Formats: sequence, C-alpha cells, structure tokens
Amino acid sequence: MRDTGKASLRQKLRRRRDALSNAHPQAGEDLANRFPLKLVDRFGPVVAVYSPIGSEIDTRGVIQKLSQYGAQLALPRIAGDDMTFHAWVEGTELIRGRFGLAEPHGDAPEVQPGLILAPLLGFDAEGTRLGYGKGYYDRALAKLRENGHAFICGLAFADQECLSLPKEPHDIPLDWVVTEAGSIPLFLARAKA
Ligand code: ADP
Ligand code: MG
Repeated sequence: MRDTGKASLRQKLRRRRDALSNAHPQAGEDLANRFPLKLVDRFGPVVAVYSPIGSEIDTRGVIQKLSQYGAQLALPRIAGDDMTFHAWVEGTELIRGRFGLAEPHGDAPEVQPGLILAPLLGFDAEGTRLGYGKGYYDRALAKLRENGHAFICGLAFADQECLSLPKEPHDIPLDWVVTEAGSIPLFLARAKA
C-alpha cells in the first residue's frame, strides 16, 4: 500500500480529538448555536447528517436545529464500498449498521443531499479532509456531483485544524467547516488560490 503518511497522522489526530472531546463537553452545543442556517437556505432542503461516534464532536444539537428549521434530514448507509444517503426523520427508529453506526431502516428511500455534513479527524486551510481511511465520503461526493451540486461541510473541534495535510487526487476538499468557535469558509480560499 502507498504510504502518504496518512496512517500515522490518523493515530495522532485521533488522540488529539480524544483529548479535545474530554476537555470540551459543551462543544456540540456551541457548534449547534453557531451553525449557519444560510447553508440550508442555499444548498438544502435535503441535508445529510450523521450520528456521532467515539470522540467526534456531538452532532445531536445541530441535528435538532436542522430538523426544527424544516430541513429534510438524511443519514448515510454503508454497503460494501458504497455509502448512500437515506431519508430520516429525527426521533424515528434507527438500526445498527457497519462499524456500529446508526443507519435508517431498510426501506428508507435514497435521497440526493445538496448539503453534506461530514465527520473528520483533521482538516487544513485548503479544505483537505482526513477521514478514517476508507474514502467513503470521497466516493459518495464524487458520485453525488455526477448528478449536480453537493456542498460538503465538516463538523469538528476548532483544534482539529492542521497546518497542512497530505492530499491525494481522489480527496474531495471540504467547502466549509463549522466548529464550536464558528464557521470557516474554505471554498473562498481555494477560489483565490
Ligand atoms: P479518507 O478520505 O477516509 O481519509 P482516503 O482519502 O485515504 O481516506 O481514501 C481511502 C481509499 O479510498 C483510497 O486508498 C482510495 O483508493 C479510495 N478512494 C477514495 N475515493 C475514491 C474514488 N473516487 N474512486 C475510487 N477509490 C477511491
Ligand atoms: Mg480522503
């Protein structure tokens, strides 16, 4: 396997995020308060969210805020190498899918979200996203963009920002990140570069 240095970075960034999660129990609530609903106005109404696992910043507050705003929520479902998004109404039943992730039940229809919220281990000022190493979001975004626009917004602790992360040709950059400290619009920086 090619060594781009991503594997050792993942370990380091996972430890960093574990520490951030312990140090900032309020961060998910702060993130929800700071989440800009203009992103839903512009790229919604179908918004892909995810249930937090491990030391990921708590997404329950932002999910509730989106739901109250009238966004049509979707959750990822993993089958083999593919991740698709399926309609989900907050508070309705979920099933346990691969990696212990909560997924919508079997007959939930597949949807094409215009705004995708994504977990991450690290991000940089160019929008490079380091995920868990399976490339699910890279592949899903590439596919969604065959059919139209899809805006990807990372959710993270502010200190998950890195100076520079390794980037491969298949990596789809983040357009925006929201943290407990506020918004970081990344697509603007790329447009100027
Ligand atoms: P992550 O984005 O989860 O941090 P990587 O970017 O390292 O993980 O991607 C993991 C693997 O997924 C890569 O080795 C790559 O081969 C595969 N991959 C990602 N996007 C695509 C794509 N669009 N087409 C084919 N393979 C892909
Ligand atoms: Mg990637």
